Amino acid sequence: MRVQHRIGADLLPWINKKKCIACKKCIKKCPVDAISMAKGKALIEASKCINCGKCVRSCPVKAILKDKDRICFEIEASIKLLRKSLAKSKSRKLQRQIVRNKVLQLRMQRKVIQGTLRELKHLKY
Ligand code: SF4
Ligand code: SF4
Repeated sequence: MRVQHRIGADLLPWINKKKCIACKKCIKKCPVDAISMAKGKALIEASKCINCGKCVRSCPVKAILKDKDRICFEIEASIKLLRKSLAKSKSRKLQRQIVRNKVLQLRMQRKVIQGTLRELKHLKY
């Protein structure tokens, strides 16, 4: 198994494409050529990345995030999407149903993730 230099425990870099201004500074800093441009935005190739964190520090617009920042970002995006659906729905009853369905969907996903993590502990490779 590959030994990785960690930015911090379980922190992986991730690019917020909306913020990226395509300056390519991160590409120049990456020691393993894990970053390239795709459709005018920086893209990290996860299989090459050694998690050194140089790209995170080099980005002038803070478009490269660590996982903990990504979690907040994704929660915000998820809530924003839910609010959009709620705004479109006509009745309170329908809105309640939308929220209930979202909760059920997330609980289901949590079970799948927890089950997968449990199985991974016993995976032989
Ligand atoms: S963390 Fe390091 S290896 Fe990974 S993409 Fe950024 S600069 Fe490259
Ligand atoms: S350093 Fe930041 S803004 Fe510049 S290309 Fe990389 S991700 Fe985009």
